[in-house]
Amino acid sequence: MKVSGRCHCGNISYEAEIDPARVTMCHCADCQMLTGSAYRANVQAPRESFVLYGGQPTIYVKTADSGTKRAHAFCPRCGTPIYSAATSDPPFYSLRIGCLDQRHQLRPSRQIWCRSALPWSMNVEDIEKLDRQ
Ligand SMILES: [Zn+2]
Ligand SMILES: [Zn+2]
Repeated sequence: MKVSGRCHCGNISYEAEIDPARVTMCHCADCQMLTGSAYRANVQAPRESFVLYGGQPTIYVKTADSGTKRAHAFCPRCGTPIYSAATSDPPFYSLRIGCLDQRHQLRPSRQIWCRSALPWSMNVEDIEKLDRQ
């Protein structure tokens, strides 16, 4: 599936090819902190399909407890997270579905790092729902 995305301010945009059956929610503490939210929803795009337009993202290299380093790209103007990837020769770019124009068609098929999930985030069915704020 062809997808297009952009950061909030429009400085950076991109296109990629993804498998819509492979959207993942990540409840790890790093994703909670780096998104400022309860979890992150990602989908991987093969390197050869990923094309960036516009400005250059800023890269933050995150080191996991395991020592694994990962490059996190974000817009230097608006801070929108663009992707994460291996620090060298990445086979995939992990795109954040909230930035994709096709996000309403993308439903996660698995959740990882559930042991660090915020308890409420595992079931939001009974939380009050309003169409607007
Ligand atoms: Zn931006
Ligand atoms: Zn995570």
